[in-house]
Amino acid sequence: MANLLVTGGAGFIGGNFVHYWAHQHPEDTIVVLDCLTYAGNRSTIADVEQAELVVGDIRDTALVEKLLRERRVSTLVHFAAESHVDRSITGPDAFIETNVIGTSSLLKAARKVWLDEGSGKDHRFHHISTDEVYGSLGPDDPAFSETTPYQPNSPYSASKAASDHLVRAWHHTYGLNTTTTNCSNNYGPYHYPEKLIPLFILNALSGKPLPIYGDGMNVRDWLYVEDHCRGIEAALKNGKPGETYNIGGGEELPNMAVIDRICAEVDRAFAEIDGLADRYPQAPAARGRATCDLKTFVADRKGHDRRYAIDETRARTELGYVPQHDFATGLRSTLRWYLENESWWTKIPN
Ligand code: NAD
Repeated sequence: MANLLVTGGAGFIGGNFVHYWAHQHPEDTIVVLDCLTYAGNRSTIADVEQAELVVGDIRDTALVEKLLRERRVSTLVHFAAESHVDRSITGPDAFIETNVIGTSSLLKAARKVWLDEGSGKDHRFHHISTDEVYGSLGPDDPAFSETTPYQPNSPYSASKAASDHLVRAWHHTYGLNTTTTNCSNNYGPYHYPEKLIPLFILNALSGKPLPIYGDGMNVRDWLYVEDHCRGIEAALKNGKPGETYNIGGGEELPNMAVIDRICAEVDRAFAEIDGLADRYPQAPAARGRATCDLKTFVADRKGHDRRYAIDETRARTELGYVPQHDFATGLRSTLRWYLENESWWTKIPN
């Protein structure tokens, strides 16, 4: 039995991880530390019996020390972050505060309780990061590997790169048992509808425009969030102290292809599921029209990275990581989840 501290566990990926872990490891206890920013939602994990939500800030080092000590935590999984690139362009300060200062606060607390006080026999600090730290690829460049030099381009990716370096330094300098995973774009249930896939699903249902940045040909690797959780579990089990592992879904797609597939899935759902036209009368599909009529080009994001691609050979060979969802099945499950969990997303303020 293990006691976990999961930061940011009321957010999208952290919340999915709490569900995943509770299902796979029912004997473990999970303390979620989350300050419930606009992106945090207590209802995401309300039905997980093993999880207790502590509303607090990762920058509160004393609180983190207390939780590590009193709850006898052996594994800290760090998701908490400001995570939206567009918000980092208009307001970078919050990204430095949470992603950089917040991560250093957690590392200080972990060092104190696990190393200095000697309470932490076996311990692990697992840091969740992004492929965006590697910068942008040209069309023929090889995919990012763990040795690709860091070249972050947005305030978001720069703050995540800084946090990755701090984690590395706390391992190298103080001997903290750390692992880091850098993953590609996630999608799936409980995703706050400011990111492409949930935003486009909900706009399609309510007949609102589908805003496409630039020429729509920016390429991303898409990872179904449950597969990401599987990869984190593999890193916690088989990862070597101080190592980093790239995790992806193995499917590079231009945004336009993702958008066309969302539109086709929505059209298909309206054709297959009784009653959708009554529930969502504003949707073009409710009136027999194509969802893709809602596509609208808008000005590109400042400094928009052109292409990300992940080489996940190390995770597959050293961790035994194998994603179980391709984009088609993951997208269908995601759409069905939003259709079946309207009460989760209708409560989110616009
Ligand atoms: P999210 O924005 O959905 O959730 C972040 C959570 O952290 C929220 O619940 C929020 O309340 C909490 N939080 C923010 N600041 C906090 C603070 N100071 N103290 C305590 N809690 C705080 O983010 P997400 O998409 O779930 O991303 C989780 C992690 O995964 C982040 O570190 C992100 O950089 C990384 N990541 C995300 C993606 C993606 O596609 N979403 C891809 C790669 C890596």
